[in-house]
Amino acid sequence: MVQAVVGANWGDEGKGKVTDLLAEKSDVVIRFQGGANAGHTIINEYGKFALHLLPSGVFHPQVINVIGPGVALNIEALLHELQGLRERGVPDPQIRISDRCQVLMPWHVDFDKFEEERLGKQSFGSTKSGIAPFYSDKYAKVGIQVCQLYDEAILRERLAIALVKKNCLLENLYHKAPVDVEALMAYLKDLAEKIRPMVCDTTRLLHEADKAGKVILLEGQLGTLRDPDHGIYPYTTSSSPLAGYGCVGAGLPPRSLTDIFCVTKAYSSAVGAGPFVCRLSGDTADELRRRGGDAGEFGATTGRPRDVGWFDAVATRYGVMVQGATEVVLTNLDVLGYLDEIPVCVAYETADGQQITDFPATPVLMGCKPVYDKLPGWKSDIRGIKRYEDLPENCRKYVEYIERQVECPIRMVSNGPKREEILYR
Ligand code: GDP
Repeated sequence: MVQAVVGANWGDEGKGKVTDLLAEKSDVVIRFQGGANAGHTIINEYGKFALHLLPSGVFHPQVINVIGPGVALNIEALLHELQGLRERGVPDPQIRISDRCQVLMPWHVDFDKFEEERLGKQSFGSTKSGIAPFYSDKYAKVGIQVCQLYDEAILRERLAIALVKKNCLLENLYHKAPVDVEALMAYLKDLAEKIRPMVCDTTRLLHEADKAGKVILLEGQLGTLRDPDHGIYPYTTSSSPLAGYGCVGAGLPPRSLTDIFCVTKAYSSAVGAGPFVCRLSGDTADELRRRGGDAGEFGATTGRPRDVGWFDAVATRYGVMVQGATEVVLTNLDVLGYLDEIPVCVAYETADGQQITDFPATPVLMGCKPVYDKLPGWKSDIRGIKRYEDLPENCRKYVEYIERQVECPIRMVSNGPKREEILYR
């Protein structure tokens, strides 16, 4: 059984909590794309954690946590996160790193920073963790795979190929010092030894686990609207956060995917640049931002304040469709308990005055304004409620309304950031 937990929107939907919850019943949890650029917030018996690169199964000693070939592996960041868990009393998790996974190099982070500086106002709101330069190199075939770290001659040759162009750009476009190859070789050798016990052929491991009927969980980062093909390009990320890509980035056959849990919040939030039709401002935004998530809507990786808005049914229906969701998980429902009435964006008005309900491509999206319907609020705190049936009637009506809007069943509703704060329908 292969399940995927993916995001319907702009990221930060609460996937970390859902993965942590499902990981309890899983044998393998896999990160299949992205790198240390996003954060999954998890609150459990060990405390509160923001995981960036580690799969969310790390709190369950029985789970094998896999870094798949599709991931941008920042080795230093990975070791740092593992150390962080150790310091807080989490038993050492089982980690396997694909030998085909590519290594995020120090120059990727530098190029990300330098490029955002160069672009100034036209920058894409990158987290500056090197992700775009990393994937550019991967597809330009000048990337370095984990397996290549263990052969000095190959590594030297690969670095020489990559660095001709890098150094030219560093010196002439960004006016910075070139990369020192010997220092880099020593640095990589040290990191390679540190991860050696975790490196293996994870594709074989996963195929064998699948054949043996194990429960495998694919953990997506960000959400549909950050997909480079299907999202709000160019305000996207550089690898696909879609369940469909999950099999590729992990190394599993596409037919193995059985369940796609698509996570969405009961309101909208987005961090980074790009069109966000439901963006609120002023006091309304401040209040929703302050009340949102477990400690306000601030990026788990960057601490940046997130843009917030009411639930966007146009964007979410599209996000759910593109993910091919088998069910939707609605999180952060408790956050809306303070409102007399709750607006829901049910259509967009385009710049030329048309009403549309299908999510458009970026140029049209840029000119869209939200069209709202309003639902009555429930004016109470729903945290602590254990059964869906015990939610206030207006709260259930809100869930059922969202379910009709997104055209996919909602079976899990999250009414608080903690692992056990989940209601099943
Ligand atoms: P992810 O990247 O999709 O895992 O999402 P993040 O962790 O970046 O953001 C989700 C935020 O919502 C975090 O602050 C979570 O602790 C919080 N959260 C998740 N589910 C709930 C919920 O049902 N209620 C509340 N109040 N917070 C939640």
